[in-house]
Amino acid sequence: MDKNSFYRKIPKVDVLLGEKEAEELIQEYGYSAVRGAVRSALQQERERVGAILQNESAPGNVPENVMEAAGKHALCGDQQRRIFDCAARLLEKEFRPEIRQVLNGTGVILHTGLGRAPLGEHVLAAGLRAAGGYTSLEYDLETGKRGERSSHFERVLCRITGARAAMAVNNNAAAVLLALTALARGKEVPVSRGELVEIGGQFRIPDVMEQSGAVLREVGTTNRTRLADYERALCEDTGAVMKVHTSNYRIVGFTESVGTAELSALCREKGIPLIADLGSGVLVNLEKYGLKREPTVQELIRQGADVVCFSGDKLLGGPQAGVIAGKKEYIERMRRHPLARALRIDKFTAAALEAVMLEYLHPEQAVRNIPVLRMLTRPAESVRGEAQKAAEMLQNAVGASAADITVTPCVSAAGGGSLPEEEIQSYAVAILPKEISAPELERRLRHLDTPVVGRISGGQVLLDMRTFEKSGAEYLAEVFRNSDILNVQGGDAG
Ligand SMILES: *Cc1c(COP(=O)(O)O)cnc(C)c1O
Repeated sequence: MDKNSFYRKIPKVDVLLGEKEAEELIQEYGYSAVRGAVRSALQQERERVGAILQNESAPGNVPENVMEAAGKHALCGDQQRRIFDCAARLLEKEFRPEIRQVLNGTGVILHTGLGRAPLGEHVLAAGLRAAGGYTSLEYDLETGKRGERSSHFERVLCRITGARAAMAVNNNAAAVLLALTALARGKEVPVSRGELVEIGGQFRIPDVMEQSGAVLREVGTTNRTRLADYERALCEDTGAVMKVHTSNYRIVGFTESVGTAELSALCREKGIPLIADLGSGVLVNLEKYGLKREPTVQELIRQGADVVCFSGDKLLGGPQAGVIAGKKEYIERMRRHPLARALRIDKFTAAALEAVMLEYLHPEQAVRNIPVLRMLTRPAESVRGEAQKAAEMLQNAVGASAADITVTPCVSAAGGGSLPEEEIQSYAVAILPKEISAPELERRLRHLDTPVVGRISGGQVLLDMRTFEKSGAEYLAEVFRNSDILNVQGGDAG
């Protein structure tokens, strides 16, 4: 039989696009996307037919047995069905956003890869309200005149931090860049050699300094810097002094550094602004919750820092932003600088930032309502209780034959370059699949409709309940009940 006759039997694009199945797809995805998908599906069908025919030796003619096999698959009525199914799958994939909500079983609270701080309910709602409609972002409702973008959260930020003025930009890297550019461009800025940090993701203090046009003046040594070192460095050309919180590492042993209070006294005497890059913007005393002491924004302001820069989406638990709090005259200079316009925040961020600051007016409530703080301060025993409930629920969902699900101690981390030494005791649900390997299960979990990210340890998949939380376990139980994800041949469901 002539090989080409197989190909000729494959329907044409235009014919397919006139079918009822196509009409339904066009309703959902639009004509041009459907035409493209049907074309791709047809190409796949041709390749499939070709693959069936390929063991034929003489070109042009197909042996009886191959023809029979090919005929069954390639020529029977379900060819059209197969093409439309394929087109529908392609369209579904093409129209699905690549940025997906993910369930975090890693135990890293500020996971940079997973977008750092998740927002709490109220904060998210405030951001959505502002972004979904018109807002009073730069409109003064009292006077009916043009207002100031940062005025809304400035009030509450000043109230909480004790600063006289505040503004926000796109992120903390931008905040540091703006502070240095506006206050010290073309001038020297002394920084201790022990504080020349790299945060990762291309943020290195010496590089940001260079970008701002300020000249880095290194003082002291890696492990010891004294007030006299700063004193010697100060001169006519000094534009500002900068203190960087070494948020992602510690220098231990024979060390010495100069505190903010001491340094600010020296700066005040010389009339030079002291800029502090705090990294994580902690506003509550974490010691109360059994964590190591972290300097808070309030403390730095009280100790006399003139400008304090910190992230909105690290330990603060708000939207991505760089908050700058400090003295009025310096904040004003930054506000008026052309760079501020390039680095400004959008209305979603402005509203969410105000909302998260409002949570801090009631610190006990903030610890409950802000997910980052809730996860960070949750006692290990409470996580263990949650893990036990989750393990039971998951085991019931899979039955005894597909997996062993237990609770195991583990260690969570703050992440995002915050609290580097902190080992936060926690508990994970450990899944030991019986039919498939742990790496295969880990892979399948990542491919769920709502991907679940865990880690592998000792041949099991671990989901740290500190970050996975009850809602994650409930979703996974649902998946276990309704899919064959733990079976050898399963894994596409979810
Ligand atoms: C994280 C961090 C930054 C950068 O903040 P982003 O908000 O990620 O831009 C700058 N300085 C320090 C000390 C940090 O810890």
